[in-house]
Amino acid sequence: MSEIRVRFAPSPTGVLHLGGARTALFNWLWARHTGGKFLLRIEDTDRQRSTDESTRAIMDALKWLGLDWDEEPVFQSTRIDAHKEALEKLIAQHRVYKCYCTPEERKAMREQAQAEKRTFIYDGRCDGKSDDSSKPFVWRFRMPKEGETVVNDLVQGIVRTPNEELEDLVIARSDGSPLYNFVVVIDDAAMGVTHVIRGKDHLTNTPKQVQLYQALGLKVPEFGHLPLILGLSKRLRSAGIESYKEQGYTPEAVNNYIARLGWSHGDQEQFSSAQLVELFDLKDVNRAEGALNLEKMEWLNQQHLQDKAPEVLASLAAPFLMKIGFDIKEDDPQLIRACATVQKRARTLVDLAERVRFYFVPDESLAYEAKSVKKHLTEEARSRLDKVRQMLQDVSDWSEASLHDSVQAFCEENELKLKHIAQPSRVALTGSQTGPGLFEIMDTLGKVSTLARLGRAVEGV
Ligand code: GLU
Ligand code: ZN
Repeated sequence: MSEIRVRFAPSPTGVLHLGGARTALFNWLWARHTGGKFLLRIEDTDRQRSTDESTRAIMDALKWLGLDWDEEPVFQSTRIDAHKEALEKLIAQHRVYKCYCTPEERKAMREQAQAEKRTFIYDGRCDGKSDDSSKPFVWRFRMPKEGETVVNDLVQGIVRTPNEELEDLVIARSDGSPLYNFVVVIDDAAMGVTHVIRGKDHLTNTPKQVQLYQALGLKVPEFGHLPLILGLSKRLRSAGIESYKEQGYTPEAVNNYIARLGWSHGDQEQFSSAQLVELFDLKDVNRAEGALNLEKMEWLNQQHLQDKAPEVLASLAAPFLMKIGFDIKEDDPQLIRACATVQKRARTLVDLAERVRFYFVPDESLAYEAKSVKKHLTEEARSRLDKVRQMLQDVSDWSEASLHDSVQAFCEENELKLKHIAQPSRVALTGSQTGPGLFEIMDTLGKVSTLARLGRAVEGV
């Protein structure tokens, strides 16, 4: 097979939401899996709605996801000459005609079709009319009236459309400015795109585009239309990928989650990006629609966080700690240890930062949760903590294992159970009754802070 060339062709009129990211990811995976090229085309011909800000946001989101593109991005607005040339060609070949119908006339035709309970298809009434330079017009491409257009879609299977259902297509306005179905064909052909992979919402455009390829004498690419994503509400459509970054998702988890919206590999749920590249095949894309489930995405994020080395986790968590006011370096050894103690439970990096923050607040300003204090820092508990604190003062090997042994021995001597000590100590050290294991906490906090916080608890917080 010759080199596979695919493209992602966003219109820069908004953010890159999960649906757009899924289209980009599937194209990228197919290119990387086959050793082909992943191209980026910014469809910015709608000058009113396109913005540079949106272009930048889309590119940043693709970069964050690791969906790097090959070759220079193509801006559709720079290709106007090629679009005009293609139109000239179709005019010269008499494949297009001027349609002078006014919006009111088109409305009347639509209403009549409705009244007769048939789907409205423009009836070609302007075809063959003589030129009238006094009237505005659009260019219509004449579709064949007989036979059918067959698309062998790599995902949806064979899709046959009777040509009588194909309306003579408006491809350009009177000033020659061309419309989507026309330019997409010209640009895909010019970029040598071999596989058009996009959302199923474009499936009905495909037979029209196939007719245009043929009229222009261009090679028709392969098509693969991805199943729709259910539950992609208006709110979720306006949430760009950067909002998931801010919520503390990792790019691997987002890629993993959106890959599973329409693609599967047995019942495996978790994939690294490298595994996705290795395993992805267009033929395994399902026809069935996938439904969004953000809880599942969060669960996957947790799985990916668990697999990270604590050093990596710390470097990911540091910016989130900075955001909540801690001046901390990503290679801070205490941060690395702290991350390791909460790694199993953190669902997002925001959550992780919240879970480790108690380690980094100054001892004197640690906040205590009222209900934990009430329940666990009773007078009796505080007098026990006082003894624990005195005992710990003499511990010189401040490590998890030795702290465990010392506290164990202390309990035996004082005829106490570990549980009499564990929860009050945890509250004293963290401010709350939930958190990592007690000896991990002590070890990570260090001797000075551990003693200071026990002291605060003893005195009454
Ligand atoms: N700009 C179009 C869109 O965002 C591209 C469609 C296509 O891939 O052909 O829907
Ligand atoms: Zn007309």
